[in-house]
Amino acid sequence: MFDKILIANRGEIACRVIRTARKLGIRTVAVYSDADVDSLHVAMADEAVHIGAAPSKESYLLADRVLEAAKLTGAQAVHPGYGFLSENAAFSAACKANNIVFIGPPVGAIEAMGSKSAAKTIMGKAGVPLVPGYHGDDQSPAVLKQHADAMGYPVLLKATAGGGGKGMRQVWSSEEFDEALEAAKRESLSSFGDDRMLIEKYLTQPRHVEIQVFFDQQGNGVFLFERDCSVQRRHQKVIEEAPAPGMNEMVRAAMGDAALLAAKAIDYEGAGTVEFLLDKDDTFYFMEMNTRLQVEHPVTEMITGQDLVEWQLRVAAGQALPLSQDQLTINGHSFEARIYAEDPNNDFLPVTGTLSYLQPPEESAHVRVDTGVLQGDEVSVYYDPMIAKLIVWDEDRNRALARLTQALSEYRISGTVTNVEFLYNLANSEPFRKADLDTGFIDKHSDLIFHKNQIELKKYLPLATLYLILKRDQDASTQASQSSDPYSPWHSAAGWRTGADSRHDYSLLINGTEMTVSGKVLNDGGFDISASSDDVALTARVSGSLSSDILKGDQLHANIDGHRIHATVVAHDGIYSLFTQDATVQFNLIAPDCGDLDGAAGAAGLSAPMNGTIVALPVTAESPVKEGQAIVIMEAMKMEHTIRAPADGTVVEFYFKEGDLVDGGAELVNFEAAESE
Ligand code: ADP
Repeated sequence: MFDKILIANRGEIACRVIRTARKLGIRTVAVYSDADVDSLHVAMADEAVHIGAAPSKESYLLADRVLEAAKLTGAQAVHPGYGFLSENAAFSAACKANNIVFIGPPVGAIEAMGSKSAAKTIMGKAGVPLVPGYHGDDQSPAVLKQHADAMGYPVLLKATAGGGGKGMRQVWSSEEFDEALEAAKRESLSSFGDDRMLIEKYLTQPRHVEIQVFFDQQGNGVFLFERDCSVQRRHQKVIEEAPAPGMNEMVRAAMGDAALLAAKAIDYEGAGTVEFLLDKDDTFYFMEMNTRLQVEHPVTEMITGQDLVEWQLRVAAGQALPLSQDQLTINGHSFEARIYAEDPNNDFLPVTGTLSYLQPPEESAHVRVDTGVLQGDEVSVYYDPMIAKLIVWDEDRNRALARLTQALSEYRISGTVTNVEFLYNLANSEPFRKADLDTGFIDKHSDLIFHKNQIELKKYLPLATLYLILKRDQDASTQASQSSDPYSPWHSAAGWRTGADSRHDYSLLINGTEMTVSGKVLNDGGFDISASSDDVALTARVSGSLSSDILKGDQLHANIDGHRIHATVVAHDGIYSLFTQDATVQFNLIAPDCGDLDGAAGAAGLSAPMNGTIVALPVTAESPVKEGQAIVIMEAMKMEHTIRAPADGTVVEFYFKEGDLVDGGAELVNFEAAESE
């Protein structure tokens, strides 16, 4: 076994690998970019080597720098994690040339699966069933279109060098083909430096079911059952589970055999995943093989009781597989939910920000949190915006699902928009409970999943008001204690007025609704709270007094109308997040003079959705455009975003040119809508 390994990655997967290495008594070396100086993976490793600037092309993707770091520290092996260099055959070969073990499959296997089209050719020859389509060398647009037309729509364009859903476009008709092809090629070129495409028949309601395989250097191979990863947005997984619900033994065995066949066809070693689309009638088709550890490997670990990173290390060190096929069994059920800094209500666009408050659910035998960030860390534009993976296990699917929803309700994050509430709504929905799964799940059930949770204003408004009163009072006494005259009446924030009840009035915006609230301090120290908006009016009685322990730090313990409630309230950039067991509520004070709140939203859609780069301006200034026509194409967080004309009209002026960097929110064009007749 190795004494020291280098982890050529960052974030949760680097931390994950370090944990297992430590368990096995192996020392670890981290690598880091300028952006990651203070990150968790660096702190956890025994040593860390700086390898470059924040953009991954200038650090984590630099094979030479990573190798130098390995040589410098005397690491005997490199674990590439997933993404970055994990499926880079040249890097794997360079490791070998330097006598450093690459913890992954041999160069030939990576090469064979590196191109989706070459992989399909190999698998077709080996007798593995394929999704019907075209994966040939002739890449002229006319030929590609002919194939698509002949196949019949819908079709799916895929970058042969692809991964992460990039360079992938669904095409529903021949008319859409040219624009989709151009966009897919452009995205593929910028992500992979290669714009070759393959075309597949687009299956409309398949499930994504994948098989985990493992091979040692002695030629033994096993499969560790399947994972169902059908719940996806932008063709990327958000919730995965194992085993696949409703899987029958015959299909499981057939898929396992096909996966082993696929791996054997390329002399596989180490951990790999063979991805299939499973159709309603139980036919399944090979999609691709990932020659590395997957993000969702923990669900397999939970149901098999195995540590797959340990298996990887053992196999890479030349040991035989720890277990044979008949020693492997499925125990219980596991889910993984990927917690992302992204906005489900804005097409799942990644969001940046500082994790000003981060409180994951408590870990236990049933709940595992794999993360690479700590409170105060930044989700930057440079890397994947995943904050953590929440993994749960229990004896059966229903119980595991209850664990998942419970743990999601306990996940508390503020400082950036996240998908936690979306995941909760999804996991809690009836169709998900019934395991009515296919890759169109999110679109199909969007009504159930995307609704903003109706918060019970009756419960949360008094809490928010109470918090503001107490907080103001506490801040005032802190100020007073620091002043030269701590007893000055001018420091009192108790809302005292001569000849009147002492009251506090606020205007606040709570989960998007503007409310006027007022709290009246009573003689016994309790409060009466009343609140109103255009369509709500309510009152509540809070027992307790300013002097009692209702608010301690960020913990609020309140008795409202005889109901004791516990909440955590945290503030960031003038926004308060109030977390209770059932919901998260955001509110902020509205300054009396802040005027028309909606005004700023007027130009929405023509401003940059986030920090990014302008990649193309498909129309020229001063030319007329039709509603819906693409006018600016941006790339941000490695994805392309198209800004379209909101109406028929004219782009009078572009404020940026191709290649410019723009800040999120920046206005991009001066657009004039045509006069309607
Ligand atoms: P990537 O490597 O970019 O992630 P994949 O080839 O793994 O792309 O496909 C990602 C997802 O896209 C799949 O899980 C599935 O939901 C969907 N998908 C891929 N191919 C097809 C297809 N032919 N028909 C329908 N859906 C597909």
